[in-house]
Amino acid sequence: MTKKVVVIGAGLAGLQTAVFLQQEGMDVTVVERREGPALETSFANGGLITPSHSAPWNSPGIFRVLLSAIGNPSSAIYVKTSAIPQYVRWGLSFVRNSTPARFRQTIERNARLSHYSLDQYNALRASLDPAMDGDSLGTIMMYRNSTSFRNAEIANGIVETAGVDVTRCSASELVRLEPALAEIEDNLVGGFYYKGDQHGDAHQFCGSLAGHLAAGGASLRYGETVTDIELSGDEITGVVTDKTRHPADAVVLAAGFWSAALGRKLGLRLPIKPVKGYSVTYDVKGWNGAPKIPVVDDAQHIGLTPLGDRIRFVGSAEFSGYSPEINPARIENLRRAAFATYPGVRDLVEDAEPLTTWCGHRPMTPDCLPIIGRQGPRNLYLNIGHGYLGWTTASGTSRAVSDLIAGRQPGLQISDYYPNRF
Ligand SMILES: Cc1cc2nc3c(=O)[nH]c(=O)nc-3n(C[C@H](O)[C@H](O)[C@H](O)COP(=O)(O)OP(=O)(O)OC[C@H]3O[C@@H](n4cnc5c(N)ncnc54)[C@H](O)[C@@H]3O)c2cc1C
Repeated sequence: MTKKVVVIGAGLAGLQTAVFLQQEGMDVTVVERREGPALETSFANGGLITPSHSAPWNSPGIFRVLLSAIGNPSSAIYVKTSAIPQYVRWGLSFVRNSTPARFRQTIERNARLSHYSLDQYNALRASLDPAMDGDSLGTIMMYRNSTSFRNAEIANGIVETAGVDVTRCSASELVRLEPALAEIEDNLVGGFYYKGDQHGDAHQFCGSLAGHLAAGGASLRYGETVTDIELSGDEITGVVTDKTRHPADAVVLAAGFWSAALGRKLGLRLPIKPVKGYSVTYDVKGWNGAPKIPVVDDAQHIGLTPLGDRIRFVGSAEFSGYSPEINPARIENLRRAAFATYPGVRDLVEDAEPLTTWCGHRPMTPDCLPIIGRQGPRNLYLNIGHGYLGWTTASGTSRAVSDLIAGRQPGLQISDYYPNRF
């Protein structure tokens, strides 16, 4: 009998799991409360698919960084004072996971997952040919300050050992790679080029996946919110929404940051907290000498990603709880930082209407690794907690979860990402 699987959430994690399950011949239903695919955290992220960014945010010394970020809404990292109570337990674990040994271990685990994920992602691209304004040109991390550049060597050394291709570059070598940086060459002390990284538009990619799913007979239920999960003993029998009930032989929870609340309905404690970030995207058609390679500017905590005829500026990390409001000051900060990287873009976009201004909530775990595998009811599978790296890692976690449901040993050793580690 064909297995009936209900996937909760149509973001990068849910849709990729659904595609892999459909390729296994299963009967797939995706339930999504928004009006279409990838309208939450997978909508306008930085677009970077970067095994090179495997270093966790909670590097040694993070405690001091968080303390200095309390109550400072204009800094790139911001801890909102009134939100502190909801982060206390999670935050203690976040800090506990920041020892040098943990830091190294997390880099290794993120890098292993990211490499596996990149293979799965390349296979999906080859088989489905999704639209996504993407490329495989690598990424650049650039520095304006020699102390930060030197300090970055530590993480880069570990990332390199974990299999990431790292090229150390002088300022002039960076400009040779990405001529659009020429205007600020004198401000740069150097950087790193990661040639294995890729980039692309996650929302477009998800839209293509949704199209393939529908064409293959999957049921895509947009505008439907999961309100309950029906149990018989230790087995889920159905997913209840505000519209109907979907019978299920297996359920995949892939609801991003909202998974914690759904998990509570099943008695699960899933340590996922939202960390808010922003992006602004402009049409730059006709920009002579537009950049081709995504650049991350360490000093300004901003990413600048070319996406076809567009450019996206992305950044900030707010520990402020969930709030869908866009703070215009944040967008202005991103614009200012972007103009300081590409002075040439200023004339083009300073007075232009952006294509999108956006905020999203990274679904963060305290050890900066996703949560995959089974927990609670015996037919519930988790694909959650992708944090700041979900575009990079969700192809791999989705492949692994679909393998588990198909009763096959995943090609990735997944015990490092099991939910019972918390
Ligand atoms: C500013 C920013 C920049 C980023 N940049 C990058 C980057 O450059 N590279 C990278 O690798 N990662 C990046 N990320 C991280 C990446 O975008 C996320 O990890 C990823 O999108 C998470 O995908 P998801 O499917 O788990 O969650 P989501 O995309 O949030 O999907 C979950 C879905 O579940 C739905 N849902 C929730 N509750 C219910 C319910 N009760 N019923 C039905 N549906 C429900 C939601 O509506 C949502 O659509 C960035 C994130 C942010 C915020």
